Amino acid sequence: MRLRTLEIALEGLEGFGRPDPATEQYSTPPALAARLLHHAALLGDIGERAVCDLGCGTGVLACGAALLGARRVVGVELDPEALAVATRNAAHLEADIELVQGDVRDRSLIEGLGPFDTVIMNPPFGAQDPHADRPFVDAALALAPVTYGIFNSGSVPFLESYLAGRAEIEFAIGGLLPLKRTFPFHRHDMVEIEVEILRMRRR
Ligand code: SAH
Repeated sequence: MRLRTLEIALEGLEGFGRPDPATEQYSTPPALAARLLHHAALLGDIGERAVCDLGCGTGVLACGAALLGARRVVGVELDPEALAVATRNAAHLEADIELVQGDVRDRSLIEGLGPFDTVIMNPPFGAQDPHADRPFVDAALALAPVTYGIFNSGSVPFLESYLAGRAEIEFAIGGLLPLKRTFPFHRHDMVEIEVEILRMRRR
């Protein structure tokens, strides 16, 4: 599937009904999601692979992975309302995904899910809680040898020190995350955050 075709498919999806600022519920914009997925697919990490989307929210990344031919896709998400949206999105795209309600910090849940070839995730950036992405990184390393994640631009040195040799950050692709005014504390109608798509390989 071409990048643009994937992007158009993801553009038709429903977003968060009532986004919760505490867990940083921002849907991944279709262009950015398609870019991550397409890149991962080109490197052989999606087609015929078992893929887990951590903090799948409305299921944008999980559905996209299914459209690109993943063998198995599981999305894990804390919020049942987001999962209800993800269920509708998967039905809309006829994407075959499994959705699990749970917390990525729950070790026994994570251990019971795998193994996977690839983790894809757009974790909270830590705007509310500075280390909110850390349990996602830990769960990703427990689940699969390869992880693609979207992080704030400039996160690499912090992540590397947190990884402490457990995984290598192989490359970063810069991108922009346009955020519409979602929460009352946002001062502008639209802001663009610089982000990076990182590929991490477990050592
Ligand atoms: N991946 C989705 C959503 C990104 S926002 C998308 O691309 O659209 C981050 C998501 O992580 C939110 O849906 C939030 O509810 C979820 N989340 C935050 N903390 C979590 C946790 N500890 N366990 C599981 N999901 C969590």
